[in-house]
Amino acid sequence: MSEPNNMVTRRPNLIIAISGVLASAILALAVWVLAQMHDDALRRAQDSVFNVSLLVERDVSRNLEIYDLSIRTVIDGLKQSRVMQLDPALRQMVLFDGSASAKDMGSILVIDETGYIAIDSQSLPPRHVYLGDRDYFKVHRDSPSVGLYVSRPFMPRTTGADMSIGLSRRITRPDGSFGGVVVGTMRLKYFRSLFDGMNLGAGGSMALMLSDGTMLMRRPYDPKTIGINLMGTANYSRFVQQPSGDFFGTAAIDGVERWYAFRHIDMYPLILDVALSTRDIYVGWRRRAWIIGSLIGALNLTMIALAVLFAQQIRRRLIAEEELRLLASTDGLTGVDNRRTFEQSAENEWRRVHRNGGSLSMLLIDVDSFKGFNDLYGHSAGDDALITVARCITQNVQRPGDTAARYGGEEFAVLLPDTDQAGAMSIGEKIRAAVEAVGLGHVASSHHVLTVSIGVATMRGEAFTSSRALVDAADQALYAAKDAGRNRVSSYGPGVPAAEGSATTVVGR
Ligand code: GH3
Ligand code: MG
Ligand code: MG
Repeated sequence: MSEPNNMVTRRPNLIIAISGVLASAILALAVWVLAQMHDDALRRAQDSVFNVSLLVERDVSRNLEIYDLSIRTVIDGLKQSRVMQLDPALRQMVLFDGSASAKDMGSILVIDETGYIAIDSQSLPPRHVYLGDRDYFKVHRDSPSVGLYVSRPFMPRTTGADMSIGLSRRITRPDGSFGGVVVGTMRLKYFRSLFDGMNLGAGGSMALMLSDGTMLMRRPYDPKTIGINLMGTANYSRFVQQPSGDFFGTAAIDGVERWYAFRHIDMYPLILDVALSTRDIYVGWRRRAWIIGSLIGALNLTMIALAVLFAQQIRRRLIAEEELRLLASTDGLTGVDNRRTFEQSAENEWRRVHRNGGSLSMLLIDVDSFKGFNDLYGHSAGDDALITVARCITQNVQRPGDTAARYGGEEFAVLLPDTDQAGAMSIGEKIRAAVEAVGLGHVASSHHVLTVSIGVATMRGEAFTSSRALVDAADQALYAAKDAGRNRVSSYGPGVPAAEGSATTVVGR
């Protein structure tokens, strides 16, 4: 039935199924692309925080190195008796020569073993300030092997402004005893402006802390966070596990989820973290996902809607075609097949028997004295009578493959495949009896009611040279029935005892 080229146009549901599969494929593709974009967004954020953390680390470690160098210069100078014997102003120049180039450097102070400032880079004579209670002083006093020490944040007593940290080294006398401390103060402002110069998005954060978790500077800047201890927080616990790394974490300070990259700064006891907020990372992706998602959704819905409409149209067309086909193949008055359809069926059946053997019977049914019926009861009543006859025929022709047709005027034909003569005669007799039993009055008929005469022809093997010959044989039998007085069934058949001519007549009653 369905050739390849009209496979789709014959199956409306297939169109909907295909559009559904297509829509799913497009959806799957969109989901895949969005997933890739999601991954890319994170990868870009990872690159970005990694680069920023590297940049900041370099800057910080370079400045600390310069600081340390200045402090070492002072310590080396202190060891030179010739330097110490210089005029104080000249000695100042020699000792603090290297300190000018470091950014946001406070003052470099030499503190004697009693905790008072002995030499002051910013003042001559030195400011009289006691610093023996500072953590850096105590650390160096109590342990000779600390090396460079980075202090907790403090407010310098010398100026009273700008929170700072101190970088310090111990002065060890030739005999190994404690000779004081050289400390350089570094303003935390330096870290703040360094952090502010980085592009991190609205929700980004950066923090520099001592290895023990003491916060030195954080972006976004909040003076309250300076000096707090992060020990015990989830993020800090991860910072101390490795020299560097990255992860998704939530800040204890503001509760914002971010992607973190952290690193320990060179050989200093400092940890730096740089983080982009998850929201910022995916904000662009989310907008694009919305656009792509709604476009794909709209596209898919439109496609499916069009497919449904198209399928509906096709369904309607198929129904119309079926109606047309029925109209072209059936008789308008009685609803049975028309003559063209019957002849096609007869030809097909004849070929089948001719090729494969078996049997095929045909009945030709003609209403008796119908001209007279029309004249007596009118043409319309005649039509009704034909409908009645057709019903009597179809009610007795029930096997699949059997076909009943209106052959012309008031003549009907029945095709009975795989039916022998006896079977065909019996069906013909049933039809004849059924019409008579309806009892449609026909006063001009010798039987008083409307009756039919039926001619039967049966083909076995190659008995007939064409389907036309089979029809002619049934026609001959029909004539025999008419000749024998109507309202009877007669069959055509050589070898069968013939009542009249070559036909066997079965009298109806
Ligand atoms: P017979 O017993 O020999 O068959 O006599 P008859 O009158 O039936 O003879 P014939 O076959 O020559 O007449 C057929 C008549 O059937 C002619 C026509 O008036 C009538 N007829 C043919 N087709 C129709 C139809 O569609 N409707 C009606 N009402 N009458 C039809
Ligand atoms: Mg006739
Ligand atoms: Mg007739």
